[in-house]
Formats: sequence, structure tokens, C-alpha cells
Amino acid sequence: MDTRLLDLLVCPICKGALHYDREAQELICPRDKLAYPVRDEIPLMLVDLARDLAAAPADTAPSQAASADA
Ligand SMILES: [Zn+2]
Repeated sequence: MDTRLLDLLVCPICKGALHYDREAQELICPRDKLAYPVRDEIPLMLVDLARDLAAAPADTAPSQAASADA
């Protein structure tokens, strides 16, 4: 993603600045503890798509148990 775009992007909830997580491809709002997905270089600034960081820690894979027979 073009990081210059970051200067133009704000959280749709609190209008605060966002942090770009390059590895996770997410835009983080530290105030709301929300992570907005970035798909194909396009930030999806929709609250419905945002991941709740408070509810689901980023380093925990929720589908880990289901991948045993892959
Ligand atoms: Zn926010």
C-alpha cells in the first residue's frame, strides 16, 4: 500500500490517525482497538469489516484446531 495514502486515512469512528501493519495487511486504530483490512492495496475502512483487537489477540489463530487433518 502507498504509505502516502496513510496521511489521508483516518478511523471512521474516532477520526484518529491509523497505524499500518505491513505484515498483517491491516490498518490499526489504537484508540478503538480495531484493525481495518487492506485487500489488494485497498484499505477497507468499514466498521463492519474491522477486526476487534480487544476480543481477538493478533497472535492467536482461531482456526488452529480445525487444521489438524489438512
Ligand atoms: Zn478509531
